[in-house]
Amino acid sequence: MTQTTFTPRVFSGIKPSGGLTLGNYLGAIKRFVGMQGQMETIYCVVDLHAITVWQDPKELAHATREVAAGYLAAGLDPTQSILFNQSRVSQHAELAWIFNCVARVGWMNRMTQFKDKAGANAEKVSLGLYAYPSLMAADILLYHATHVPVGEDQKQHVELTRDIANKFNHDYKIDFFPETIPVIDGPATRVMNLRDGTKKMSKSGESDMERINMRDDADTIAKKFKKSKSDQDVLPETVEGLKDRPEARNLVDIYAALSDTTPDAVIADYAGAGWGRFKPALADLAVAKLAPISDEMTRLMDDPAEIDRILADGADRARAIAAPILAQTYEIVGLLR
Ligand code: ATP
Ligand code: MG
Repeated sequence: MTQTTFTPRVFSGIKPSGGLTLGNYLGAIKRFVGMQGQMETIYCVVDLHAITVWQDPKELAHATREVAAGYLAAGLDPTQSILFNQSRVSQHAELAWIFNCVARVGWMNRMTQFKDKAGANAEKVSLGLYAYPSLMAADILLYHATHVPVGEDQKQHVELTRDIANKFNHDYKIDFFPETIPVIDGPATRVMNLRDGTKKMSKSGESDMERINMRDDADTIAKKFKKSKSDQDVLPETVEGLKDRPEARNLVDIYAALSDTTPDAVIADYAGAGWGRFKPALADLAVAKLAPISDEMTRLMDDPAEIDRILADGADRARAIAAPILAQTYEIVGLLR
């Protein structure tokens, strides 16, 4: 097979499964916005992924607009990037079906996100939750995306996307889908839960105290950091001193990501500081960064028709890329149109 060169193109998405968290901001949105202008960027509100667990219909519509507002408020320019919600471009679901027939059950059984989300309840969760990685592969490969910025938790799904692309190319003896690169960089690719430094912060996590929501007010942010789990020690002289201190490591990483610096630089400033000094400084920093974005989200949410217009326009532009790629896929597979 000759090696096709694919035009650099970024795709990523966020589920409207609740309010956006600091993890989504630092691990996803902020980095997505940073890639704008470097190459073609396509960002999605992945509503079809959200319904893999029950979503109240009214809340889903609200959360979809709110995730869109989060992207826009954080600096996504809808003329520079394509911004849309997934269900508006039906080709995602169509390509996912093809990939359901390419991916192997054994591959799905290895997905740690399914194990984490299904827990002991695996027999009772939706089939969609199990097949989720196949839809995610379709989201990415429908645009022949070459780069996918994600948090550390999604690395395995992007690797599976590469496996699906390779198996498709191999089975049909064609170099059609690219091998997508997961882009996982910076100090906040895995922001941890504030009450348990071994678990990821998630919008669907059980307790509100374990996460900072992008729309929390200043008092709430201060309270959550103050009550966040830490330890008995002061901050060390070097980053190596944070080893085996997951909560301390997390708070330093959050500080570094919010201030666009490195954990080393944060430690250089705060070596020897106790939590009574560090936590209020972190809360002030988080409020200074999040409040303007949250205010802008409130302003955008006052005009839902404008958000819908932006999403519909983005969907038209997304479809223009997706439709020919799906049509070629059908032709390769031998499906008459
Ligand atoms: P849910 O609990 O519903 O799965 P979530 O908070 O995990 O929600 P997703 O919509 O699943 O959010 O993920 C959107 C993006 O945010 C992905 O790129 C994911 O890797 C990233 N992300 C999610 N949580 C974190 C986190 N704690 N740290 C860094 N990145 C994160
Ligand atoms: Mg998630």
